[in-house]
Amino acid sequence: MEIRDRYAPSPTGLQHIGGVRTALFNYLFAKSKGGKFILRLEDTDRTRFSEAYVQNLYDTFSWLGIKWDEGPDIGGPAAPYIQSERTEIYKKYAACLVEKDRAYYCFCTAERIEEIRREREAAHSSLSGYDRHCRIIPKEEAARRAKAGEAHTVRLKIPLEETTCFRDQILGDIEWKNSDINPDPVLLKSDGFPTYHLANIVDDHLMGISHVLRAQEWLPSTPLHVIIYKSFGWEHPVFCHLPMVNGADGKKLSKRHGATSIDEFRLKGYLPEALINYIALIGASYIEGKDIYTLDELIANFSMDKLNKASGVFDYKKLDWYNGQYIRMKSDEDLSALTLPLAIDAGLFGGKGKAPNAKEADLFRAAIPLVKERAVFLKEIPEKLFYLFSEPEIPRAEEFFPKKMGKEETLELLKKGLPLIAPMAEAPSDGNAEEIIKSWAEKENIKLGDVMMPLRVAITGARVSPPLFGSLRLLGAEKSLSRINSAINKLESF
Ligand code: GLU
Ligand code: ZN
Repeated sequence: MEIRDRYAPSPTGLQHIGGVRTALFNYLFAKSKGGKFILRLEDTDRTRFSEAYVQNLYDTFSWLGIKWDEGPDIGGPAAPYIQSERTEIYKKYAACLVEKDRAYYCFCTAERIEEIRREREAAHSSLSGYDRHCRIIPKEEAARRAKAGEAHTVRLKIPLEETTCFRDQILGDIEWKNSDINPDPVLLKSDGFPTYHLANIVDDHLMGISHVLRAQEWLPSTPLHVIIYKSFGWEHPVFCHLPMVNGADGKKLSKRHGATSIDEFRLKGYLPEALINYIALIGASYIEGKDIYTLDELIANFSMDKLNKASGVFDYKKLDWYNGQYIRMKSDEDLSALTLPLAIDAGLFGGKGKAPNAKEADLFRAAIPLVKERAVFLKEIPEKLFYLFSEPEIPRAEEFFPKKMGKEETLELLKKGLPLIAPMAEAPSDGNAEEIIKSWAEKENIKLGDVMMPLRVAITGARVSPPLFGSLRLLGAEKSLSRINSAINKLESF
């Protein structure tokens, strides 16, 4: 049997962690079995639909580098993959259920349904949902009324006395009394649009879906789905309800916890590889002690029995750690290409949106190793490099002072260190530069840290900065000297 699974989002919001995780698990499962991963747009809720959300879906997955084998944008044997383009199909299948006496026409108005609800509420009744009013209308009479144009919906005729059972790949055997299922839900609305339940099942069947991997919040709908499959006389796919993703407080992940939409993560400077790696590990356990997985490794290691029953926790700190790891795995060239647009945006080259000239572009590329080791986010890379492209503001005097020293001693250190600047800036390597200052400090009986601090502040404008020797080298002797001299002048004037 060919393995086919799908991601079936409703374009009623931005793509978020939960949705992408569902998509990713479907993708990994299909690929691990040599099967097909399908994208289907469930856009029957027209009130909450927006074209912008569809675009966001495409943009998100193209940024993540996750591709489907069949879908609205690329077609496939079961096209169309957009539910709003399949309404005739659902009408036909709803009619087929009515024909088989597994569904019936309901002529109740919205007002009547609302009235029942109100009456029950007033009577403190525990009953909920539809009262099966039209279930007993003789079939011929109902057909006649529908044909004559009387407004109607189509409702599923849930077999009353039965119990519905199915096996979930993660949760095991599940049993629901039919009497506990929402009574005779609507399959086809009066405007001819299907409900989620009908469209979802007809499509999974017609698209040959063998496995349904979806969030556990859909579990309560599944008994109903199993009944619909049975009513059609179809086999249902294998169900696998994925553990939920919660925030650190155990509640469903939401805006309160931090970013949830993939757009936000992208804009904050997370790498797609880091997000994929981290998301794939939430609520799953692969190889003990191994954290970093390429997409191919995830595919090779994926299996349903590695998914946990309990919900997973989305740990923002852990994601940050992954991001740092993936930044360090990038080559300097790749990192420079990835962060150049952010640098232009941040105004690194003399104004917001200004592109670098050839010299600046070279300097930017050469500066990547200075910031790569510590960066957690891509945008930190340009942010930490401003001092190489424009003169840093000279901070207040105290910033220059090494521990337990004042202005006079600091000035003396800077002046004494001046002759070292050119040799260090021109040293063939950072190691050589370090050697120069170390042996000098030893000879002069000065603590290395004491002389490094004012030099660092003079060169970079801050006490915490990228490495000093690399900075001297990239700035060159002339600029470096001029910065030390300006610092000396400024300190003297304080
Ligand atoms: N359209 C549903 C959603 O938005 C699909 C649920 C399912 O996978 O069956 O998640
Ligand atoms: Zn009715």
